[in-house]
Amino acid sequence: MFVTEPPIFGSASTATTNDQTRRTNLSLILSLVHHRGSLTRAELARVTGLNRSTVATLTGQLGELELLYETSPGTSTTVGRPSSHVHANPATAALAVNPEIDAITIGLVGLGGRVIKRIRYPTQRIPSAQEATNIAAAVIDGMRGELDSVYRIVGVGVAVPGLVRAEDGLVTYAPHLGWNDEPIARMIADATGYPVWAANDASLGAGGELLFGAGRGSIDLLYLNGGSSGIGGGVVTGGQLLTGTDGYAGELGHTLVNSAGVRCHCGAIGCLETEVSRQRLLDAAGLDVVGLDGVGLDGGDGDELEAALAESRDPAVGAEVDRQIGFLSVALRNAVNVLNPERIVLGGFLATLHSLAPERLAQAVRADALDGPAHDVHISAAGLGSNLLMIGAAELAFSGLLADPARVAAKPSGLLASDA
Ligand SMILES: [Zn+2]
Repeated sequence: MFVTEPPIFGSASTATTNDQTRRTNLSLILSLVHHRGSLTRAELARVTGLNRSTVATLTGQLGELELLYETSPGTSTTVGRPSSHVHANPATAALAVNPEIDAITIGLVGLGGRVIKRIRYPTQRIPSAQEATNIAAAVIDGMRGELDSVYRIVGVGVAVPGLVRAEDGLVTYAPHLGWNDEPIARMIADATGYPVWAANDASLGAGGELLFGAGRGSIDLLYLNGGSSGIGGGVVTGGQLLTGTDGYAGELGHTLVNSAGVRCHCGAIGCLETEVSRQRLLDAAGLDVVGLDGVGLDGGDGDELEAALAESRDPAVGAEVDRQIGFLSVALRNAVNVLNPERIVLGGFLATLHSLAPERLAQAVRADALDGPAHDVHISAAGLGSNLLMIGAAELAFSGLLADPARVAAKPSGLLASDA
């Protein structure tokens, strides 16, 4: 699903034609600049192993397609000709949509991964798929003048807190939203006219953190997000997002952490998300969601919750934090033993829990996991904060363009990536 930088040469080099090589190299250069930010031509040559004249040709072609632009380096004190800086062109952009139980968030994300605009539209009740579609379409319609005149939109990525079939963006089951078999990608495509892809929010978060955030440079990463809709997970292994047969892999929120626990909405007993929950933290701290900035909490900042918990002198709050860290460490121990990740990235209220006692969580995981996989694992908070799901969902929409820049970008505006 995610386009990490492709290999420089096709895997079957004997069958590689010039066209395929050119396509692969264009994809490589565009992906590198998109994911890593500005690079000089010399850096691109060094990272890709391509010679500088080939890099110049490729960046020139991507410039003609208006996907990259170059700036001159100014004066250089080093010997030799200074290398121009290559930047992603944010005028090519993707839209992102994230339906949650109390809001629909819509974002505009430029090539290069920068969030240009983010609009959170609160809802009075849990939105149905049709209501989420209507709100997303209305907000996008309100931006339409700007989108049509300033941006080239590659499509829409939807981050859904639930199980999403990768093939067609059908939400098979989103328990907190109460959605069953909702063809959300098709619905939003019909309502907006843009091509639309949908995937599980935590899987998209894992990809976002891997490519742009705290997981940058990792190859084996576990991402866990705690939101108002429970706990979702995404697993990157060997640089690839683990999808499973139908795209449902990574549901760590429904792994067993307490065999004497309560029944989860999924039907099982003692799931991680029944023991480790934002609501239980709010209850312990005597906080009401209404009194907090919902944007921060849902989006992953959680600053106010963190401040309230950190400042509390109530021993019941400390006990609840300890209890949740204990159960979170059980789930992480299991994941470390099974997956041997290099890095664990925690988002949403899980980042808040972690920040309250970073050493305690790491120690608990290290103490209980097997010595081998536990030795080198790093646990950290997500780096992209409230922009994470916008960036992750946009990446889904960018993936066709990144895989084949010339074919996708050459299409007339409005038809971009429509059959990618
Ligand atoms: Zn469950």
